[in-house]
Amino acid sequence: MTTIDVAGVRVDTRHYINGQRVASAETYTNTSPIDGSFLGEIARGGATEVNLAVDAARAAFPAWAALGPRGRGELLQTLAELVEANIEPLSQIETLDNGALLRSHRRGVMPRVAMNIRFFAEWAMNELHHEVFDTRGHSNHVSWDPSGVAALITPWNAPLMLATWKIGPALAAGDTVVLKPAEWTPLTASYFADLTREAGIPDGVFNVVFGYGAEAGGPLTAHPGISRISFTGSVPTAKVIAHAAADNLTPVSFELGGKSPLLVFEDADIELAASLAVEQYDNAGQVCLSGTRILVHEAVADAFAAAFASKAAVLVQGDPREETTDIGPQVHSTHFARIQGFVDRAKAEGAQFVWGGEPNRELGGLYFTPTLVRDPEPGSEIVTAEIFGPVLCMQTFSSDAEAVAMANGTEFGLAAVVVSGNRSHAERITAELVAGTIWVNCFFVRDLRAPFGGSKKSGIGREGGTWSFDFYADVKNTVFSPNGWKE
Ligand code: ADP
Repeated sequence: MTTIDVAGVRVDTRHYINGQRVASAETYTNTSPIDGSFLGEIARGGATEVNLAVDAARAAFPAWAALGPRGRGELLQTLAELVEANIEPLSQIETLDNGALLRSHRRGVMPRVAMNIRFFAEWAMNELHHEVFDTRGHSNHVSWDPSGVAALITPWNAPLMLATWKIGPALAAGDTVVLKPAEWTPLTASYFADLTREAGIPDGVFNVVFGYGAEAGGPLTAHPGISRISFTGSVPTAKVIAHAAADNLTPVSFELGGKSPLLVFEDADIELAASLAVEQYDNAGQVCLSGTRILVHEAVADAFAAAFASKAAVLVQGDPREETTDIGPQVHSTHFARIQGFVDRAKAEGAQFVWGGEPNRELGGLYFTPTLVRDPEPGSEIVTAEIFGPVLCMQTFSSDAEAVAMANGTEFGLAAVVVSGNRSHAERITAELVAGTIWVNCFFVRDLRAPFGGSKKSGIGREGGTWSFDFYADVKNTVFSPNGWKE
């Protein structure tokens, strides 16, 4: 079977290489996290398919690069329009495949996918001014040249959104692409490949290889024919990829995990703080940016806990296709068991679960109840490890210095949320925090012009705006002398 029916939409289960569908000898089974139902058998790629895809991407590179930002931009605009015309099928497919809310896909995520394509196409055309500056009469011309084949390895928590956050700038920069989506959520990448074809993106410019991390991602990241690796995923996998990249000195951009703090100060609006805290359950807690460590000033801890409880109590857990659902299932049984393991070990150590702390018995399957642990042992696993589920920790502090030390006290540095009613207080705190993104009295406001990435073990490099092009392109400086001209 080469195509499957997903929510009434035909989706191809084969790789997309050089504009063609390519099968593999082996497949793997893909199921829906909503109810465990069978979705399809997906092509299970390895070195053979990766080599074909990289060869195709290399062959397509010169002509794609030669099109220039404007030529590429026109095709990418068409692609963005096609994504917009397909928001409903893309949303339906993604929800069945990864279990995230249908309403979020329809209203936020898929429009953002289109924006990822359009924004970077426009940025390449309009904002990457070929900068010129003078050095004693010599002029320096800075340009962002296409670099070759970008290998993109993406996770399952926001599959098409995170893939296009890389595909958009890579294609706009003039690179060709081989995408290896996460094995648990391959389907929107396949549907998107069809859209690239419909948009007239030339064969070989965009390729997708499906399969497991080590089997398909391994040969891709070790391939000497690629020029960039952009990866979003876990720290352990990043280390494996860094080793693979080392042999060819392939530049990497890594967006990794987090255990971000959400700081609630004594001067905070407690209702706002509680709303922001409850938002951390979004996508069933499967968000790298989540502020999963809630650090509250001891003077407002009880007031905060009460406000949190009243907001958490009205959250609806259930089928992510229902408009009223706030929290859906975890993505996969393996991941569910991992979350359960964290919670069970914390319980065994005597941690106090004031909210949730167990699977949702009524719903069964992969639904885990939103959970809050209060005053866990400092330094214990539940406060230091990324759980990537609906499990929040609440700890208290008594001074700014203690708050900052706790906030910065993990190996991660992806994001932080600061809730304070006093601007200069908030500014003093944000200056001390180590994180790629800090939100003050808000969460998840993301502008594609802004740099995005993590400090410490949360990543290497930044993407967004020109930062994306600094990575995907070869940045070149050409110096013209005032001397030696014959005309
Ligand atoms: P998780 O553990 O949450 O699934 P990973 O970091 O393992 O996160 O997965 C993110 C992406 O990395 C997926 O597309 C996965 O297939 C891929 N991946 C996993 N292992 C490797 C590897 N050894 N080489 C390249 N890619 C990999």
